[in-house]
Amino acid sequence: MPEGDTVWRAARQLDRSLSGKVLTRTDFRVPAFATWDLAGATVEQTLSRGKHLLTRIAAGERWTLHTHLKMEGAWRVLRRGQSWPRPAHTARVVLETDDNVAVGFQLGIVEIVAREGEPELVGHLGPDLLGPDWDAVEAVRRICEQPERPIKNALLDQSRLAGIGNMYANELCFIGGVAPETAVEQVPDLPRMVARAHQMLDLNRRRAVQSTTGDLGRGRTFWVHGRSGQPCRRCGTTIVQSMVGEPGRERATFHCPSCQPLRGAPADGR
Ligand SMILES: [Zn+2]
Repeated sequence: MPEGDTVWRAARQLDRSLSGKVLTRTDFRVPAFATWDLAGATVEQTLSRGKHLLTRIAAGERWTLHTHLKMEGAWRVLRRGQSWPRPAHTARVVLETDDNVAVGFQLGIVEIVAREGEPELVGHLGPDLLGPDWDAVEAVRRICEQPERPIKNALLDQSRLAGIGNMYANELCFIGGVAPETAVEQVPDLPRMVARAHQMLDLNRRRAVQSTTGDLGRGRTFWVHGRSGQPCRRCGTTIVQSMVGEPGRERATFHCPSCQPLRGAPADGR
């Protein structure tokens, strides 16, 4: 699942490749917009808000192409004539200019809205961890509105703070020394955990390899994520995998039973 820093990088690449360019061909391979043709329009900007991508396009009227990578999606910018890295039938959007072809594969959301409609797309989001208006105090306040909620579920809720996916949620629980099911009110230092979230995404958006340990070596980038059955890097205890999340939205969860004791009474979420 793409995390906020991955989405931010995708936005930056689209922005650098397309902004100011005229679209020579467009192809929206989703039923609702299959008949749309924005050839001749100018791309103004692409930006990210949390894990949402907004590509602003002007064609007389001002439109916003809203895309979301969800679980498997990716944007790739290719030279014209270069072969695509994924099967063509998985492409959902193709934006072509004189220089480049941007292809959105397996996108979870594709829609075009009038520019004024942007707040409806992203207005529900909490503070954007990688936004110019990042507000840590407000993020902590929103998380604390649900004191009994398991901390991992709260971190994944984009209306509390925007940009954290499953990997960062797992890693943040480890760094905070709390079991993922720990109630928000039992987390010893929530402002510190939120500050670490910002620090991690901010560091990783600038580099090709995501790491939470600070080590960029292969297989050494994460504390617990994806490491079930392996020894904890701090204490040697075997990392455990389980499923944690709201019903129907359980996610693969990794934790060290020794470094991450369950604090207080067990909360819902398993
Ligand atoms: Zn440990």
